[in-house]
Amino acid sequence: MRAVPTLIVRNIGALVTCDPRRGDAPGVVHDAVLIAAGGTITYAGPSDGATVPALTADVVDIDAHGAAVIPGFVDAHSHITWLGERSEEYAERARGVSYEEIGRRGGGIGATVRSTAAGTVAEIRHAAAARARRMIECGTTTVEVKSGYGLALDAEMRQLDAAIEVGHEEDLPDVVATYLPLHAPPGGDREALLDEVCRAGVRAAATRASFCDVFCEDGAFTVDECRRVLVAAREAGLGVKVHAEQRSHSGGAQLAAALHAASADHLEHGTDEDFRALAGAAVAAVILPGAALVLGGPPPPGRRLLEAGATVAVATDCNPGSCYSESMPLMVSLAVATAGMTPAQALVAATAGGAAALRLEDRGMLRAGLRCDAVILATPRWLDIGYHLGANLAETVIRAGLVVAGGEPQAAGDDLSEP
Ligand SMILES: [Zn+2]
Repeated sequence: MRAVPTLIVRNIGALVTCDPRRGDAPGVVHDAVLIAAGGTITYAGPSDGATVPALTADVVDIDAHGAAVIPGFVDAHSHITWLGERSEEYAERARGVSYEEIGRRGGGIGATVRSTAAGTVAEIRHAAAARARRMIECGTTTVEVKSGYGLALDAEMRQLDAAIEVGHEEDLPDVVATYLPLHAPPGGDREALLDEVCRAGVRAAATRASFCDVFCEDGAFTVDECRRVLVAAREAGLGVKVHAEQRSHSGGAQLAAALHAASADHLEHGTDEDFRALAGAAVAAVILPGAALVLGGPPPPGRRLLEAGATVAVATDCNPGSCYSESMPLMVSLAVATAGMTPAQALVAATAGGAAALRLEDRGMLRAGLRCDAVILATPRWLDIGYHLGANLAETVIRAGLVVAGGEPQAAGDDLSEP
């Protein structure tokens, strides 16, 4: 491990704290400085009145040249530990071939399960690390990674081990691992799968993962099956999450509320009553606007969730079937364009909201005492994150106080020199 130096980022035009204590979202402080020691923020506020450490040899001193600085993105829902290749299937679907027909021909999630279940930890880690690198280059400093393409217990554990190894590389995002035993419906005996998961799976996963997740959906797993697994997971010490109301209204959101889950994810077919139940039970709602766009159907209910009082997170759902994207900035754009959220709400959902969905209290905002996960943008305007559709404006990415992607900001960068 590299020693973590003292870090100073000075001449910040707009420090976007995402901290509600800083007033209206996203809590912007102009003409600011960010200081960290040992990976933890010691000061995040106005330059006036800041006590800036003396410039000794072990201090990293960065001039932001008036750029905006935001918290590192917290991507609270991804499936990046997959092997196999499905680009031809993407083209087939664009030609009008149905997902069901592709499944009958041996494609779809079944193809990903066959490839991934046959892979070693090293092979899965290699594939996931390439995706994680693209994530951190776009400004993601924490990512939740699910298993779910192994089905058999040992294959699921190889996916979790690969995810954890990715998170141990200090120039990749920090990883929160989630065991997703109920994902693709098994071809064979459902009862045998549920038994194995409840007796052995959750206990093996509890030594590796933070959460257990289930796909509650018509054609996948029922509310009763999901409840049985999540109750066993909770007894084993895991937090719980639910893929809920994605393609139909099947009861996953109310299950998440009843179990006080950390999050309910997707929710396109949820009702306002569901959303009030999530808010009342302090369950974060994770919207996945990339998958919603690719699959069609109702838009992600970002604004309705906020109106119901829920904490909302925006995440990529990066996966080989419905959304192959590592880009949180793109998800911020889509949350504004398709989920009825303001740019400020979308940015907070992509940072502090993601941290809430992962029950991480040490990140997601720029505030003294929290981890120093931050992104120096190639623009003085934080609004450009969503407005500049499809662009990567992450100039310098800082993970736990270390510069891990990009270089030092340039004084005459394209965007900074614009009037
Ligand atoms: Zn998912």
